[in-house]
Amino acid sequence: MRKAYIVLALAGLLVHNETNAQTRADKRVARQLKEDITYLASDELEGRRVGSEGERKAAAYIEKRYKELGLSGYKGKYQHEFPYIDGRKIEDATQIKLGNDLLRITEEAFPFAFSANKKAYGEVIPDVFESGNIWMISMYADKEEAADAHFEWEKKAYERAREAQKQGATGVLFYDNFNSKYTPVYNSKSEYETLEIPVGFLNFNAYQTYTPKFKDRNELPVEMNVLLKRSELTGHNITAFIDNKAWHTVVLGAHYDHLGYGHDGNSLHAAKDGQVHNGADDNASGTAGLMQLAEWIKRNKLRNYNYLFISFSGEEEGLIGSKAIVRDMGFDSTRIAYMINMDMVGRLNDSTHALTIGGVGTSPAWAQFTKPKNFKISVDSSGAGPSDHTSFYRAGVPVLFVFTGLHTDYHKPSDDAEKLNYDGETQVLRYVYNIVEQMDKQPKPKFKTTKEATVGKVRFKVTLGIMPDYSFQEGGVKVDGVTDGKPAIKAGIKAGDIITQLGSHKVNGMQTYMEALGAFKEGDKTEVTIIRGEDEIKLPIEFK
Ligand SMILES: [Zn+2]
Repeated sequence: MRKAYIVLALAGLLVHNETNAQTRADKRVARQLKEDITYLASDELEGRRVGSEGERKAAAYIEKRYKELGLSGYKGKYQHEFPYIDGRKIEDATQIKLGNDLLRITEEAFPFAFSANKKAYGEVIPDVFESGNIWMISMYADKEEAADAHFEWEKKAYERAREAQKQGATGVLFYDNFNSKYTPVYNSKSEYETLEIPVGFLNFNAYQTYTPKFKDRNELPVEMNVLLKRSELTGHNITAFIDNKAWHTVVLGAHYDHLGYGHDGNSLHAAKDGQVHNGADDNASGTAGLMQLAEWIKRNKLRNYNYLFISFSGEEEGLIGSKAIVRDMGFDSTRIAYMINMDMVGRLNDSTHALTIGGVGTSPAWAQFTKPKNFKISVDSSGAGPSDHTSFYRAGVPVLFVFTGLHTDYHKPSDDAEKLNYDGETQVLRYVYNIVEQMDKQPKPKFKTTKEATVGKVRFKVTLGIMPDYSFQEGGVKVDGVTDGKPAIKAGIKAGDIITQLGSHKVNGMQTYMEALGAFKEGDKTEVTIIRGEDEIKLPIEFK
């Protein structure tokens, strides 16, 4: 009896020590996460926008950390650059003149980003439209439109300018004579395709200041000279690699870029007051988590796969970095065992313990991980989702996506380090590590395609069944992926092809592509023109 009691006491002591050790280890992990995230999400890094100084500082920090962990880069380097087109920038040569007055560009007037790089001159009467002359058009039909926060001024301007172009206008200058609170501002990221005439905007103050001078003459000498240039930035993906000389490689990833000062369209901060979007949860949490996984995988000597860690940039601008690395690295998807992506893993809710796992349908191997004891898992089977795993899924790689859920600070300056649940993130990382550890003992998981959400496609009578590359801006629509059973795949269209014509409809970009689609109905047969490499190919296609 005494002996049994001693054994029990010893066993209890052992368990107690072990739990203590684990708790101490967890505390250390949480401390390191806090240190990394606090720096990455600091104002000093200015919201880590792709191609910015803040991104470069973050990249240097992550590279330094990987070095401290004794990990080398991939293919001989840590940082892998990729080009990024950051919209169209107004060049200094751009001028808008009323009479002899040269207007201040941006403060008083600006060209729309879909304007042609052209000159035009005309003696103009506002709202009198003659072919062969510049048209001056009131931006708003009435004061109600001017007072409407949701008035789609860019769409309206584009459609009216395109109409004016058709009717022979040599240029268009919109003006605000209602002093709208929501006055248009230059949008470098405009998705509207470039027109063939110069198009500009005159704000209320400028209209008030300069146009009265010509009241007596009734005609306004207007001169426009527009020069816009694509602004090219360089983004940096950061890699670390454990080369076990294995045939297959596991990719673990997390994007580290964020929204900078929120000047792109994807900030949810209504004020638009240029605050730093710190992006602690999105996605400094995943970035720090990835470094922790690297430490564990290295220390525990997982050997049956090579392990490639990638901190992506350009995710917020449309998965630019992950697409680039899949494209440029010439990844042979048959040599990538699987990919796990962590995006926003820092706000685990301590009472619900809710955790979303995406991509579960991309391999039968994943079902074994969807019922952990300490999390309430919600499963999303689709391989295509709002983050970088999509780029790997499109390349035929089984993927998993880990996410603690949205919150009210999402895409706002208030997504700060002090709001994160570091102990919770430590538990999430232990869960992810456990998947990797289990998979290290299993063969490469089989790949399965998954159904894709059809949000936003229902308004057309027909679809081609392609996933467009929204970041492609070089004329036509670039195909990112094709869906099984749909007209595109049946016609032989492949990922990478560029669609330039549908039937008789020229396709210059998403806009004209959607208009072309709208012209067809179920059962229609036509021809699609694509560019593949150097070749232009015409393929018969049937919509059904
Ligand atoms: Zn994110």
